[in-house]
Amino acid sequence: MTETATSKEPIKASEIDPKFKYELSKMHGGEKILRCFQCGTCTSDCPVARYSDTYRPRTLIRMAQLGLKERVLNSDTLWLCAACFTCTDRCPQDVEVASVIRVLRNLAAERGCVPQVFKDQTSSILESGYAYKIPELRMKKRETQGLPPLPKGNPENVRKALKGVKFLEATEKKGEQHGQ
Ligand code: SF4
Ligand code: SF4
Repeated sequence: MTETATSKEPIKASEIDPKFKYELSKMHGGEKILRCFQCGTCTSDCPVARYSDTYRPRTLIRMAQLGLKERVLNSDTLWLCAACFTCTDRCPQDVEVASVIRVLRNLAAERGCVPQVFKDQTSSILESGYAYKIPELRMKKRETQGLPPLPKGNPENVRKALKGVKFLEATEKKGEQHGQ
């Protein structure tokens, strides 16, 4: 079962990992998570939350503080953040919310919990240099309309860059929730 950040299911004591917030606070980007006092400014200013019924950065931060590690790392909503840094700019406690979310995503990715859509985009980038594989038919249509060919991607360079950040290994792992 996929948990979401806004799951209304009662929390069981066995789910709580009391060390999780301290582990996060030792990671680069997660240092200030303990400062959050749940004012809700991040959620109220978040452009994604405005259009989503489930995405709430404040909730993700609180769940992480509470030690709900599995729920947070398996949450689909974790991947909705657009990394616009509005929350980071507005947080009165200087929590650097966007960075905390990046840390959570990295932890989720390490266990292979990456949504299939990102895995597919990765495959496409590695194959063609483009996040979206452009159909051959469309390329031919460009030619018939006298449009110049699209610039060639450089998948080899992309592969080298991604290898440096262990991204490939992470997205190639099969996650419990996202690797189906
Ligand atoms: S704005 Fe900062 S202090 Fe307020 S809920 Fe978000 S992270 Fe917590
Ligand atoms: S960085 Fe993510 S959580 Fe923060 S405001 Fe932007 S979309 Fe929302």
